[in-house]
Amino acid sequence: PPRNSNAARDIASVLHPYTDHRLHQQAGPVVITRGKGVRVWDDQGKEYIEAVAGLWCAALGFDNERLVQAATAQMRRLPFYHAFTAKSHEPMIELAEMLIERAPAPMSKAFFANSGSEANDSAVKMIWYYNNALGRPRKKKIISRLRAYHGITVASGSLTGLPANHKLFDLPLPGFLHVSTPHHYHGAQPGETEEQFATRLAEELEAVIQREGPETVAAFWAEPVMGAGGVIVPPATYFEKIQAVLRRHDVLLVADEVICGFGRTGNYWGCQSFGIQPDILTCAKALSASFLPISAVLINDKVFEGIAEGSHSVGTWGHGFTYSGHPVPAAVAVEALKIYDEIGLLDHVRRVGPYMQKALRERFGDHPLVGEVRGLGLIAAIELVEDKAARRNFDPTRKIGLRLAKLGEEHGVILRALIGDTIAFSPPLIITEAEIDAMLDRTAAALDALTAELRR
Ligand code: PLP
Repeated sequence: PPRNSNAARDIASVLHPYTDHRLHQQAGPVVITRGKGVRVWDDQGKEYIEAVAGLWCAALGFDNERLVQAATAQMRRLPFYHAFTAKSHEPMIELAEMLIERAPAPMSKAFFANSGSEANDSAVKMIWYYNNALGRPRKKKIISRLRAYHGITVASGSLTGLPANHKLFDLPLPGFLHVSTPHHYHGAQPGETEEQFATRLAEELEAVIQREGPETVAAFWAEPVMGAGGVIVPPATYFEKIQAVLRRHDVLLVADEVICGFGRTGNYWGCQSFGIQPDILTCAKALSASFLPISAVLINDKVFEGIAEGSHSVGTWGHGFTYSGHPVPAAVAVEALKIYDEIGLLDHVRRVGPYMQKALRERFGDHPLVGEVRGLGLIAAIELVEDKAARRNFDPTRKIGLRLAKLGEEHGVILRALIGDTIAFSPPLIITEAEIDAMLDRTAAALDALTAELRR
């Protein structure tokens, strides 16, 4: 890149999340300078459709005057206050009420943090604290799934079930266990139906709990639809069977709604798409339409009672962030949730979600490089394979998914390549049918280019 360009300055100065830094030193960044609706522009003036809403998060797209107003009005009124030692403020109170009112299962309290990772870390500590307060400190282990993504801090990174998040980081921490991914396409045995597959995974969970000792297992963590691990939609009866096992052993269920929350799957919560009744729910991202960082942990009465008891005996619930419930992001989140209701965002997703799912299957289902098209609502993926009949992926070192994402950029669509050469679609929830067509036209052009390259 030219000297003093944004790209050269970036290469010289920025350590990026999730980036191969040897490659980045040569290839450099895409520098995004502005956005509108489902589109963003780079510093060369090139326009892109954002097929993943940034990081599955910009639910209202890349501009919204009401959110700007909500932020500036709150900054003028009270730019900061905290929530420690029983201090409070109205935006946080209102947001807590709105979340509890909308929750997919009866919830008692909301705790606020700044990111999905912090929300999940906070929930881990709540669970340990709760079991300590109940006098069962050994009930501590936490089970999540391979390919889960729950964040990158030390505890949430341990929940995450992706090798790159563990390798060289000395994770997972002891007591964090992973069971199988509910992905029928790769995980099922020959001839096994979705129902039989779900039964087998529930039996696996039962066996793990028995092996570890139910008195040592505290919680099970799950995204309703796994996002970063590959957009894995579980079999219809999976969560019903899993929940029966958890109830038998008094194991708490934590739903990570960081991606699925606020309409992504065609229900307000992903939990509602699969009959999940969580004890704890974590959310972030679309909570504020991603205009400012904020996340929340919702806990039911049972968990709250444990925390209340514990905090009384110790003298405090010794956990919280300087910016827990920060008034500016809280005010923006309140406004975002109001906007979602007022514009009928959920009804919109219920109209355009099936349109996107159908279009993806029609356009890519028979493509020789596409092994599976999956998803629901406005979350989907196409998985690239070398051998469609054998469901065999490409050698990961060829980075075929990343190559398609790069070709997508050239064709004006920002795609996200996940592990297993899976390409994610999770556009802003405001996307229209015409914009879905344009997004898929550009993706198809990139896929044609990839197909041509692979033939060469
Ligand atoms: N949980 C899920 C399901 C996520 O997708 C993510 C981020 O993508 C996180 C947690 C972590 O959130 P954050 O990146 O805000 O820490």
